[in-house]
Amino acid sequence: MSTTHPKDQISYCPKCGGKKFPYAGKNFHCQDCGFTFYINSSAAVAAIILNEKNELLLTRRKFEPMAGLLDLPGGFVDPMESAETAVRREIKEELNLEIDQLHFFCSVPNEYTFNGLSYFTTDITFLCKVDSMEHIHAEDDISEALFIAPENIRLEDIGATSMKVIVQKYLDEHQNVARILR
Ligand SMILES: [Zn+2]
Repeated sequence: MSTTHPKDQISYCPKCGGKKFPYAGKNFHCQDCGFTFYINSSAAVAAIILNEKNELLLTRRKFEPMAGLLDLPGGFVDPMESAETAVRREIKEELNLEIDQLHFFCSVPNEYTFNGLSYFTTDITFLCKVDSMEHIHAEDDISEALFIAPENIRLEDIGATSMKVIVQKYLDEHQNVARILR
């Protein structure tokens, strides 16, 4: 059965166009030109941000996949960018917020399907202290930013599997998280 995994979706060598391009565990290897194409995990970042009432900032996705569902703010790390710089950049781009302090929270693997092809990510999550919410504004690839109290967060409203795992971990530890971000 064909899946969205690259091994079922990629048939030809991207370098020479050769058809003998088998997938062997973590990479494709072209038997015509010798080119190796690795399937690695892409780095992505997510942010846990609380307001003064200790409500969690969630965003609503504007685009597919999972348009309309809730997400944590964040995005892909650019080539040659640190995860810390990426989370500061994404939070500025999506929400017009400036992160003051960052604390590593967890990393969670994810499989993200777009146009019928799976991409693998490692979603690196930070607890982010924001000094002022005064200029918050939903921009870029989100339609709305909302603050939800822990007792009102419903995991079924959250799109990505990794985001559900991260939000569940936040819910399990929300009092401690609030203490760290105070
Ligand atoms: Zn080739």
